Amino acid sequence: MYTNHIEMLEVAPRDGLQNEQVLIPTDQKLALIGRAIAAGARRIEVTSFVNPRAVPQMADADAVAAGLPQRDDVTYIGLVMNQRGAERALATGRIDQLGAVSVSTDTFAIANQNQTSQGSVDAAKAIILAAQAAGATGQVTIAAAFGCPFEGEVAEARVLAMAAALAEAGPFEIGLADTIGVANPAHVASLVGKVRDLIAPIPVRVHFHNTRGTGLANVWAAITAGARTVDASIGGLGGCPFAPGASGNVATEDVVYMLERAGVATGLKLAALVDASHWLGTIMGRTLPGMVARAPVFPKLS
Ligand code: ZN
Repeated sequence: MYTNHIEMLEVAPRDGLQNEQVLIPTDQKLALIGRAIAAGARRIEVTSFVNPRAVPQMADADAVAAGLPQRDDVTYIGLVMNQRGAERALATGRIDQLGAVSVSTDTFAIANQNQTSQGSVDAAKAIILAAQAAGATGQVTIAAAFGCPFEGEVAEARVLAMAAALAEAGPFEIGLADTIGVANPAHVASLVGKVRDLIAPIPVRVHFHNTRGTGLANVWAAITAGARTVDASIGGLGGCPFAPGASGNVATEDVVYMLERAGVATGLKLAALVDASHWLGTIMGRTLPGMVARAPVFPKLS
């Protein structure tokens, strides 16, 4: 074990909502962000600055940014795919960190962001540099790092080559995303360990979808292999409009329950996360996939 403290990054307002067909009003997105902060979240992916025709749920990115609570202790992250998105996000004056996405395969990169894999690496480096030039920070996530919905298995060598190239831009961190939920703990431990050694001292973040039930096992494997930050979504909401069959992120409350019970501090308050998950379920009008919020409280409150 490398650490007894893991940073959680809340992605419900962006990855969690982006695949929802019903448009969620801006004030409810801001209420979700407020609940995440109240539960202790200090890094939050709040929206994405992308083409609203491609992702209608994110069309209110500027309004979300304008409505963010003024908090010096919270890092607000805007996801962007290109220079235009970076300029939009930075122009709000409210986004602290740009999140770029590089995709491991050409087929998925073209479906997701109309770029080749190499083009997505070049674009991410430019986004990171643009963020730094504006006094913000930039980080990047390697999508489909453990498998591609179109091309299948993704070689570790491909991901390592991308990580090495991306590290040249000096990102705040590099994330490894299991965009379609196909990773297993052995693969995660191997790849996280190799990327960690390759890019140190740049930290590794991980992002898992629980499509096949391996999400929590993958989180544990990742942190034992040296990942510093874990993405998660309140309620286990989530999906990708451009990845067939993608389903929810690991639920924040499930990850926090597992880690805190295992002696790994997250800084998050489980009871507040469970409340937020229940609230989000009523907003979405359905039972969300996260499990801890549907289980009896344990241990019993004294
Ligand atoms: Zn995701």
